[in-house]
Amino acid sequence: MYNEDDLLPLSGLQHLLFCERQWGLIHLEQVWEENRLTAEGRVLHEHAHSGGVENRPGIRISRGLRIHSFRLGLSGEADVVEFRPSPEGIALPGDGRGLWRPYPVEYKRGKPKQNACDEVQLCAQALCLEEMFGAELVEGSLFYGEPRRRTKVPFTQQLRARTEALALRMHALHRAGRTPVASHQEKCESCSLLHRCLPKLFSKPASVRKYLDRALDHE
Ligand code: SF4
Repeated sequence: MYNEDDLLPLSGLQHLLFCERQWGLIHLEQVWEENRLTAEGRVLHEHAHSGGVENRPGIRISRGLRIHSFRLGLSGEADVVEFRPSPEGIALPGDGRGLWRPYPVEYKRGKPKQNACDEVQLCAQALCLEEMFGAELVEGSLFYGEPRRRTKVPFTQQLRARTEALALRMHALHRAGRTPVASHQEKCESCSLLHRCLPKLFSKPASVRKYLDRALDHE
């Protein structure tokens, strides 16, 4: 179990899955480069977070909910959490209308991505909600700008294990306190930090990278 002071931003998991160096630049060195894509994403999130709680018949919607997990050492904000009626759900304080199961919905600009970074982020939210509310979550949804519709994400054992492993890795890198070295790859061309990272200039040979990764794992 982590303490409150040890919690790391949940949003870092998506950076970590994309590239460990990108995570280090953003979360250890506070480097951030706003471009059209990140600006569009920020506006979408600000819109999703501008709500509070809304009660509709048969559903309760919470926007911008602060979430955390002391087990995984994560904290963040969920765009939208729907509370849906369920016999396996939990009673909400001051509600008195029955049992509800949390259902997270995360808003993303653009299309579904090649890697699973959005699924991992949503699953991390689910793990936080499970710990906070003591309810088991079965699935959530990602809402993409293109196409403008929801994609369901089941919280499988595999996705949960992957999310937990990434949270562990993020804490190991944070304890080490060193930004991983650059490694130029195809994905660098779509990275918002390409011009700050300069991977072609600073890439280390694979043998050096492996040595540094091993050293980090043993810290
Ligand atoms: S430019 Fe490449 S190596 Fe650098 S942070 Fe981005 S993805 Fe990682």
